[in-house]
Amino acid sequence: MDSRQADDSSPGMRCAPGGTDLSEMSLKPSDLPAPPQATARVIQACSDPNVGAHGLAQIVGSDPVLTAELLRVVNSAFFGLKREVRSAVQAVTILGNRALRNLALCLAVRDSVRPGAIPGFDIMSFWEEGLRRAVSAKLVARSVGFDVDEAFTIGLLQDFGMLALVFARPQLSPSWNEIRVLTPDERRRREQLLFGTTHDRIGLVLAKTWSLPPGIALAMACHHAPDADGLPPHHREACRIAHVADQMAAVFSCATPESAITRCRAVLGDTFAMSADDADALLAQVPAGVEEAAVSLGLRVSNQLKYEEVMRLATQTLVAENRSYQELTRALEQALREKDALAQRLQEANRQLEQLAYYDALTDLVNRRRFTEVLSSEVARHSRSGAPMTVVMVDLDHFKSVNDTYGHPFGDTVLAAVAGVLRDSLRQTDVKARVGGEEICLLLPETSEESAKAVVERARTAIENLMLRTPQRRVPVTASFGACSWAGRAFDRASIDVTCATLLETADQALYDSKRAGRNRVSWRSFPALTA
Ligand code: GH3
Ligand code: MG
Ligand code: MG
Repeated sequence: MDSRQADDSSPGMRCAPGGTDLSEMSLKPSDLPAPPQATARVIQACSDPNVGAHGLAQIVGSDPVLTAELLRVVNSAFFGLKREVRSAVQAVTILGNRALRNLALCLAVRDSVRPGAIPGFDIMSFWEEGLRRAVSAKLVARSVGFDVDEAFTIGLLQDFGMLALVFARPQLSPSWNEIRVLTPDERRRREQLLFGTTHDRIGLVLAKTWSLPPGIALAMACHHAPDADGLPPHHREACRIAHVADQMAAVFSCATPESAITRCRAVLGDTFAMSADDADALLAQVPAGVEEAAVSLGLRVSNQLKYEEVMRLATQTLVAENRSYQELTRALEQALREKDALAQRLQEANRQLEQLAYYDALTDLVNRRRFTEVLSSEVARHSRSGAPMTVVMVDLDHFKSVNDTYGHPFGDTVLAAVAGVLRDSLRQTDVKARVGGEEICLLLPETSEESAKAVVERARTAIENLMLRTPQRRVPVTASFGACSWAGRAFDRASIDVTCATLLETADQALYDSKRAGRNRVSWRSFPALTA
């Protein structure tokens, strides 16, 4: 029999991290649940080697309520005894000290906090969880050859610290609903945040104040760290059983059953070398075990979800997660496609805007505004290279009479045709702009007067040769040209502007030379020397 009581000097007692003094947690002993007196006496007597079976039976028998409760539990299906136990003496003899102590302990924790003692706290759901751990621990104990009654008691008591926490801090009791659906380790972190301590630390304090045997005390303190240094092998086994019992219970309470199942199988595999099938077989026995244990301990629990149901829910969650992932991916792809389409439309809109801003709708030549910009930048560029450039003004001859004779719409056709001829007869890099009603301006980059002469003459001839006709007759169209070439230096804004203006003016004067000289010709004027 284990006669040592929990004390701080026991090996492994330090595995509950942090201090375990109530004062450090700003708690007083009276803040914690206490065992009913009669049960406390039985627990102590069970652990005292000087108290024999007779003495023990006397202690149990001295409390009729406890005796009745003990007999009820012992005779319940849970214990599965062949004969009915009718007296305290019989109970002590049949159960033995250790089983009696465990049973007394279960009743003690059950009765230490009366239902309704903590307002707003669902104590039944707490015990339901405790029973899940107790039954899980018992199932594991049976398969690894550990004392099943001891394991059951450990399972029931291992999170008793949580009940003590809400007992001491009833105002925080609503947080239980949030904590109970977390994984065992998440729970500890949440408790630390909410209560400033954890159930395993409080559990150790309780074990000391209740004078619990070291095996149970250690499991209460160390079930989150079963591999902590200094645990004797037998106690380590108890801590490991409590550790896996926690993971097994979480399968039924955790908000994320799919990961709880995976973790539980892994922990059972790592700790007791169980296969996933072994783990599933144990888990499948938990719900019925909980219902049976609840009846025998006089605790009310809700209908237990079968393990197959939990697995089905877990699969559904996985499928749903997978589906929502696929939906997200699809939505994202759709959004990206829409983004691409929008970007294309924006590009197109910008192109159209640019077209509107820079191009003349009738002739599709650039407009005056664009021509002015290009002329300016070309003057600057030619300044740097020193290459010559040529500007040509073109004006249709007697165009007013074309409009007057054949109508304005026909005049428009003529303008568009002339623009087409100029586009075709000049290089692509030459700039052709409609700068006024029927006035066109040309800019021939890197072209001297000498080389421009043939080009401009070719353009003039092409207009002259245009075969424009009304239904009745051919309409001859000609244009007069005035040109000016320039090569020089203009770096600052002012000299660039002066150069541009002078080029346009000189070409215009040359154009009037052509008009005066009888039209349909090209006239050249030299770029005048600029006075500073
Ligand atoms: P000149 O040989 O001296 O240049 O004679 P002109 O008749 O061409 O002279 P003027 O510059 O006085 O007339 C220009 C005419 O161009 C006036 C106007 O009816 C016509 N015009 C200007 N813009 C347009 C246009 O967009 N469409 C049409 N159809 N005609 C236009
Ligand atoms: Mg004109
Ligand atoms: Mg004209």
